[in-house]
Amino acid sequence: MDKSLVKPIKKLLTDKSMKIVIVSHVNPDGDSIGSSLALYHFLKNTGFSNTVAISPNAFPSFLGWMPGSENMILGTKSSALSSEKIKEADLIFCLDFNDIERTENLSSRLSKAKGVKILIDHHPDPRPHFDHVISQISASSTAEMIYEIITGLESEKTINTNIAECLYAGIVTDTGSLSYGCNNPRTYEIIAHLMALGVDGEKIHRLIYDTYSEQRMRLLGHCLSANLVVLQEQSTAFIFLSASDLKKFNYQEGDTEGVVNYGLSIKGISLAAIFIERKDNIKISFRSEGNVDVNILAREYFNGGGHKNAAGGNFKDTLENTIRYFESIIRNLSREEFRVLRGVADNV
Ligand code: 5GP
Ligand code: MN
Repeated sequence: MDKSLVKPIKKLLTDKSMKIVIVSHVNPDGDSIGSSLALYHFLKNTGFSNTVAISPNAFPSFLGWMPGSENMILGTKSSALSSEKIKEADLIFCLDFNDIERTENLSSRLSKAKGVKILIDHHPDPRPHFDHVISQISASSTAEMIYEIITGLESEKTINTNIAECLYAGIVTDTGSLSYGCNNPRTYEIIAHLMALGVDGEKIHRLIYDTYSEQRMRLLGHCLSANLVVLQEQSTAFIFLSASDLKKFNYQEGDTEGVVNYGLSIKGISLAAIFIERKDNIKISFRSEGNVDVNILAREYFNGGGHKNAAGGNFKDTLENTIRYFESIIRNLSREEFRVLRGVADNV
C-alpha cells in the first residue's frame, strides 16, 4: 500500500483526547468487524482512549470470540448511545463500505455528523460523501489495509495478539479462507507476519468455521439438495430460501453466511446467487468467477453493489417474482449486456 495514503490519518490523529468513532456496515461480516476492532485496539493502545466501535446491528455468533467484540455498540440495541457518540465525534472512521447508505439505521445520523469522516475500504466506486477516501480495490480486505495503516503510522511492534487475531480473521473471511481475491504475495506476507506475532490460524479457523449448530448444518443440506437450481446454459446456479425454510431450521443470524459460494463449486458455473426471503424484501448475494462482474449485476438490477466477484443487493417483491426476474435477466441479457457482465475480454 502506498504509504502516502497514511499521511492524512497521521495529520488527523493529533490530540489523544479526541473523540473517535469507528463504524462498520450493516449485517457486518468478518472483515467489517475484524478491521474495526483491530483499529479500535490500536487507537486505544496508543492513547486514544475516547474511541468506540459501532456496528449498525448485531454480528453473527461465530464472530463473538473476537477480542473487543463485547465492547462494540450496536445501533439497533443502543440507538441513543450510538447517536450520541456519532454526534459528538471529532473523527469518524468508516470501514469496509463505500456508501453511507450501507450503515442503514445509522446513515442519517452519520450524514449529519460534524466529525471528519475517513473512509477506509476496498470496494469499487467509493461515494464522495467522506472527507477523506482511502480506497484500495486491489486489497484482499479492509483488514489488510488496516494492517498497512497501523504499520505505516507506528512501528509494527504496536500490533499485539488481539490486533493480529482481528486482522487475520478479517483477511481469511473476506477471501473465503484464502481462495479468492488474494492472488498477491502481499496478502501472504501480512498473514505470515500476523502468525509470527502469535496468531494461531488453525484455532481461528475452528472458531469461525467449526461452530455450526446442528440446525445450521441441516439448513445447508436443505439448500443444496432441495433448493438449488442449476442453469447450465447460463453458467449460473442459485439457491433460494423462503421464510418458512428459515423457520423450519430455526434460522439464526449468520446461518446462511457462505452458502452462496457452493454454486461456484459446480463445474462450468461462474455465477452463483442466493435469494433469501426477509420481512420487507428479498436479500440477494452474488458470487462469481473470473470476468463475470456481479457488482454490475447487483448495482444495475438489485439495488446493491459490492465487488466484481462478490456482491449483494435486495429486491422488493415476492421470492418467486424475484427469482423469475433474475432468471429473465440472465436468460435475456443482450449480447452487449453480457459483454459488460462478463467483461469485455471475453468472447461471449
Ligand atoms: P454478502 O453477499 O456477503 O452479503 O456481501 C458480499 C459483498 O457485497 C460485500 O462486499 C458487501 O459489502 C456487498 N453487499 C452486500 N449487500 C449489499 C447491498 O445491499 N448493497 C451494496 N452496495 N453492497 C452490498
Ligand atoms: Mn471487506
